[in-house]
Amino acid sequence: MQLLLADIALALPAGGTFQYRVPDSLREKIQIGKRVFVFVRSRRMVGYVVGLSPTPLVQEVRDVDSVIDEEPILNEHFLKLTRWMSEYYLCSWGQAIEAVLPAPFKRGKTFMKSRSKPLCGGLETIHPAPLTLTEEQAHAFGQIQERVQKRQSQVFLLHGVTGSGKTEIYMHLIGGLLKESRGSIVLVPEIALTPQAVERFYSRFGDGLAVIHSRLSQGKRVEEWHRIRRGEAKVVVGARSAVFSPVRDLGLVVIDEEHDTSYKQEETPRYETRNVAKRRAEMEGAVLVLGSATPSLESFFEAGEKKIVCLSLRERIEKRPLPVVEVVDMRRERYREKGEKIFSDALEKNMREALSRKEQVMLFLNRRGFSTYLHCSSCGYVMTCKNCRISLTYHYDKGSLFCHVCHYRLASQRLCPACQKNYLHYFGMGTQKVESEAVRLFPDAKVARMDSDSMTKKDSHEALLRLFKKGEVEVLIGTQMITKGHDFPNVSLIGVISADTALHLPDFRAAERTFDLLTQVAGRAGRGDIPGKVVIQTHVPHHYAILAAKDHDYREFYEKEIVFRKELELPPFTHLIQLVLSGKAEKEVVRQILGLGKFLESRMDGRPFAVMGPAPCLVSKEKGLFRWNLYLKGPSIPEMGAWLKETLREFQKSRTVLTIDVDPQ
Ligand code: ADP
Ligand code: ZN
Repeated sequence: MQLLLADIALALPAGGTFQYRVPDSLREKIQIGKRVFVFVRSRRMVGYVVGLSPTPLVQEVRDVDSVIDEEPILNEHFLKLTRWMSEYYLCSWGQAIEAVLPAPFKRGKTFMKSRSKPLCGGLETIHPAPLTLTEEQAHAFGQIQERVQKRQSQVFLLHGVTGSGKTEIYMHLIGGLLKESRGSIVLVPEIALTPQAVERFYSRFGDGLAVIHSRLSQGKRVEEWHRIRRGEAKVVVGARSAVFSPVRDLGLVVIDEEHDTSYKQEETPRYETRNVAKRRAEMEGAVLVLGSATPSLESFFEAGEKKIVCLSLRERIEKRPLPVVEVVDMRRERYREKGEKIFSDALEKNMREALSRKEQVMLFLNRRGFSTYLHCSSCGYVMTCKNCRISLTYHYDKGSLFCHVCHYRLASQRLCPACQKNYLHYFGMGTQKVESEAVRLFPDAKVARMDSDSMTKKDSHEALLRLFKKGEVEVLIGTQMITKGHDFPNVSLIGVISADTALHLPDFRAAERTFDLLTQVAGRAGRGDIPGKVVIQTHVPHHYAILAAKDHDYREFYEKEIVFRKELELPPFTHLIQLVLSGKAEKEVVRQILGLGKFLESRMDGRPFAVMGPAPCLVSKEKGLFRWNLYLKGPSIPEMGAWLKETLREFQKSRTVLTIDVDPQ
């Protein structure tokens, strides 16, 4: 009999696929897309059959040990998609495959054939008649629907503020597809997968819905996977990984809040969901809809280039007004008890008024603001890098300020370079401090705090939100957690304790993040019959990100930001690959990353790439390991990635670990 060899993808960091001989006993069973057990040295591993051929490429080949699956678990589309992921994100094919499957599959668990009960059994399904779309909604719906029906892949950007009726459009599209027995996937940020939000989908689609979130047990996850694959669930709502749901005859993928950072996977393969979804939609003839009030700069840029179609919803449903935003200049606020003042007079006054009207208040502070930047509280000046326009981070041990991208270094200063006053200080303030101050100022109000410290129990988050909704909490203080996905009609005031914390992160997307956050936060106010009010406290009241958020004007922000990006040749005008080297001895890490930078530069041979850095990472020491990074910048990822992969083969390192992040966040 002719020899038969299988190409097996393994989830090892190294290289391509591995050839194994198929013994005669397995010939009938083996098939592309199935899992097998193979031995790697003396270890038995799960492998994925990605090819079969009669030609051995090496002398010594070992036998496939056994075939796990009765039926392939990866179809042609998923094989193609994962292969592309491995090339784009510079990981192995096996690693990409494991990213798309539920975890138990990676351990060789076998197929479950029985039918299972839908997870949502017990929830009442009322199937309310879909609402009649407004003219604006109907227009957007029509444009998207046309492509869906023709099975023409296309990316749409649905740009509309919170409450403009985007979700209703998604549901109409899904409903249309269901009539033809076709499937849809709706992705939302993990944090927005609250029972409240999901219930709206359940009540419309009932048992045909599968919900995928991180709190699902592994067993449930596998059950849902099968239910989707058998076509019993045709609508999937889920977080990032739900983009890989084995939906049959996929017609639509929606990414709601497409700018959200949770769509980036922070472990290998470090994929960006938007990018993967776009690829999947292309392959399967599906339509991708990106929804947001504050689109990522990349998406809006692509819309400008006519690569994707932008549809706008300009009004809120029933023309509910957007909240009035007041920007408070904290430089003018007086100091109290030596430290930074937390509540401006304006915020305090607005809170008193709202509470006396029995309305609720949300106070927001981004805790990431603990990062220490040097800031002048007299003039608002923040020490920034002259090359990268990002704020410099203070390193206590070195007594210096560093740029985390290009390694520009500046000795710590006492006087503000802008106003020459002695008001420079390191910014760092937490939600706990806000809480104690709120309790002090409003001793009669019921105050609660919600952040990752206070919310350690699984459901405490939901429980607190329920109390808040019932009015048993009057002032809710929190981090990003409170900004998404909830509808609290009695909230009439939102206070942003400091808009500056995100603004001064050492990150070139800092302004974009700030604008997103402020817009998001402002969207929480005035959702019911009460007009909303937002008070934003800042030391830089004239910053364009803050002014644009005040005007609820995405375009105003975009026009300013895009100019900087172009000037500094940052995304979307270029693409970045981040290389992180980590190790126990900092000297060694520094020596090697310097070497890596020089090595890469020496191999460019006139290619349009550039090295930025090296510099210490934003988190410069983690779990005992020192971390330094450098960025590679160039016009296109596939070209730069292929070159990097090839070039890195020759780079010698020892006792350090290299991590690669394509399109880092
Ligand atoms: P978004 O997803 O943009 O935040 P939603 O679709 O959630 O907006 O709509 C906001 C609110 O308006 C929801 O309560 C929704 O039920 C309601 N709504 C949406 N479209 C319509 C419509 N055509 N007629 C009446 N109410 C609508
Ligand atoms: Zn710099």
